[in-house]
Amino acid sequence: MNHLGFEMEKVKIGSFDFTCCEGCQLQLANKESTLPDFLALLDIRNFREISSERLDDYDIALVEGSITRPDEIERLKAIRGKAKVLIAFGTCACFGGVNSLKNRIPQEEAIREVYDNKAVETMPSMKISDIVQVDYSIPGCPVSKDEVEQILVGIVTRSQVSLPTYPVCVDCKQQLNTCLFDLGELCLGPITRAGCNAVCTTGKTACLGCRGPAEELNMPAFLELIKEKGLSLEDLHEKLAFYNAFEPLATDET
Ligand code: SF4
Ligand code: SF4
Ligand code: SF4
Repeated sequence: MNHLGFEMEKVKIGSFDFTCCEGCQLQLANKESTLPDFLALLDIRNFREISSERLDDYDIALVEGSITRPDEIERLKAIRGKAKVLIAFGTCACFGGVNSLKNRIPQEEAIREVYDNKAVETMPSMKISDIVQVDYSIPGCPVSKDEVEQILVGIVTRSQVSLPTYPVCVDCKQQLNTCLFDLGELCLGPITRAGCNAVCTTGKTACLGCRGPAEELNMPAFLELIKEKGLSLEDLHEKLAFYNAFEPLATDET
């Protein structure tokens, strides 16, 4: 019963992992300070990290991981068929993520490298929206717990839900960090969507763009900055490819 004295109907949610490290689901499960309040809003039907329930009726499906095996396609379609709202959860789900590094070499070579030529069924890594319709995307490797909570509460209460449109640099500068370009490093902060509180650059590690492209980005100015600092386009291409999150930008222009 809530503080107004009536029962609120909980929203049924399931969380499902595909090819990934499950770090995004763990982020949510580990947030002990707000987990009880958060769980009070939701009826957990299927969430391996926090519940032993394995029920297959749910309104919201959180889908973590990318698709790299034929059987995952069928499982994903079945989840889509049951969920009213499907959320691509984390960078692997939104963009293909680190799993997509294997797309850069022939699949036979990838199998040889990782599985020593054992017979495994695998295929190039695909993002969730390559297979089914996605209603919301929450990027991040891993996701930001605060952002996930805000978005889920927004969906449940039917409030407006949106991600920041500006780049990581805005948050980084607010934290008065020394810019890594001034230390000779190539950082993707100027073109990457904010929302992670500039966690990497505050820890003096260059942004690798796990949240994908910001809507308010200025690619010509970014390329000019790289040139002005004498940094290499090869390094830029490596970084843009790391999470496969900049596919639309990885054109001849870059
Ligand atoms: S996005 Fe990162 S943390 Fe999340 S499942 Fe993929 S690899 Fe793990
Ligand atoms: S370190 Fe990166 S994110 Fe921070 S201001 Fe410089 S370019 Fe932007
Ligand atoms: S700083 Fe960049 S790489 Fe690090 S979490 Fe934020 S968006 Fe991802």
